[in-house]
Amino acid sequence: MSIDTIGIVGAGTMGNGIAQACATSGLNVVMIDVSDAALAKGLATIAGSLDRLIKKEKITAADKDAALARIRTSTNYDDVKGAQLVIEAATENLELKIKILRQLDALLAPETLVATNTSSISITQLAAVTGRADRFIGMHFFNPVPMMALVEIIRGLQTSDATHDAVRELALRLGKTPITVKNAPGFVVNRILVPMINEAFFVLAEGLASPEDIDAGMKLGCNHPIGPLALADMIGLDVCLAVMNVYFAEFNDSKYRPCPLLKELVAAGYLGRKTGRGVYTY
Ligand code: NAD
Repeated sequence: MSIDTIGIVGAGTMGNGIAQACATSGLNVVMIDVSDAALAKGLATIAGSLDRLIKKEKITAADKDAALARIRTSTNYDDVKGAQLVIEAATENLELKIKILRQLDALLAPETLVATNTSSISITQLAAVTGRADRFIGMHFFNPVPMMALVEIIRGLQTSDATHDAVRELALRLGKTPITVKNAPGFVVNRILVPMINEAFFVLAEGLASPEDIDAGMKLGCNHPIGPLALADMIGLDVCLAVMNVYFAEFNDSKYRPCPLLKELVAAGYLGRKTGRGVYTY
């Protein structure tokens, strides 16, 4: 199947980033959200991002106009009917995603592929609420989408090879590097990243080194661009804790127990950059 039109549900951080990546790669986009204000904000974010690319001489003003002309916005789900692939990128909430996927499933043609950008919900579980589990897949983009090269392509238990191959080809067309992953909590990147961050909190709690030295160690010793504790402050300590709790519950394995210091900081409201204080003070 050749894909020329992508439907995107959700115009937030990820939805508008995915829309930009698709439109600058020559694909037509229909971006859906529940409110006109969210759509206007999403479009303004894309325009601002394209302006920065013009400034850096990566694209021309004509490229920007052409990309924006390929994006249609709507609050009416019926407008995604013409898409060959619909990517769900709405708020991370299981009940909401089930509702959206059932709605899409009822109106889309049988051959239309559906992907979700969820970070934490089981692809197999979401596939099961649709009547197209073989044509359903995870497409996990990274933030900010226009800058980040990786897409994790997550196969649910029933995802077909044809669906996988079509979505992988699309990721390549967007200039991304896809990796194929079987469905499991955290997929690949967050499964490795978040326990590493959790371990950095254990190292800190045991008093083995100062926060600055732990971060310097991982930056200089492993060539990481940022240390794990500074990264935790960026992600949000509450988000890191929530992810560890999911692994702990889902895998039933004590190796995923959240570090008590991480819990303590979250309990105190020290959530990282967003609250002005986490491991570091901002
Ligand atoms: P966000 O809050 O920025 O945007 C979500 C958008 O969904 C909002 O504009 C909201 O109005 C819209 N929405 C809510 N209900 C809707 C409905 N019924 N129909 C259509 N739109 C609806 O969230 P985000 O950060 O863009 O996250 C979106 C998804 O991407 C989540 O599943 C999240 O887990 C995943 N994700 C996020 C990141 C990240 O770094 N932010 C990275 C990878 C994946």
